[in-house]
Amino acid sequence: MEDCIFCKIVNKEIPSEIIYEDDKVMAFKDVNPQSPVHVLVIPKEHIESSNDIDDNNSQLIGHIFVTIKELAKELGIDEDGYRIVNNCGSFGGQTVYHIHFHLLGGRKFSWPPG
Ligand code: 5GP
Ligand code: ZN
Repeated sequence: MEDCIFCKIVNKEIPSEIIYEDDKVMAFKDVNPQSPVHVLVIPKEHIESSNDIDDNNSQLIGHIFVTIKELAKELGIDEDGYRIVNNCGSFGGQTVYHIHFHLLGGRKFSWPPG
């Protein structure tokens, strides 16, 4: 995807603070952090949003969640707890249309969301 900023991050065409990478997924620090820990975990493959999750990529999405759990432990937020957020579409507040999961931690979050 030529104009996708996260594909450019995957291809290292634009810099990011990568904290984890394997052949399928990448995790990097959010440029505008909302909490002491704010990491984005994405598939390297371009998938637009949660609307595009299906049986063909569900293993990849599962791998993202295993990665998130491991990162939470490495980043020292597993005991206190953390929040995993996926914003889908306009009402969900999605601004980058390459599916991503926010891993937020290091402070207490409120509920319900705004
Ligand atoms: P969304 O609103 O789509 O769920 O989240 C997009 C997130 O991507 C935002 O939290 C925003 O700060 C982050 N973001 C947007 N552009 C960049 C970028 O170029 N680099 C990094 N590291 N994060 C970005
Ligand atoms: Zn993309």
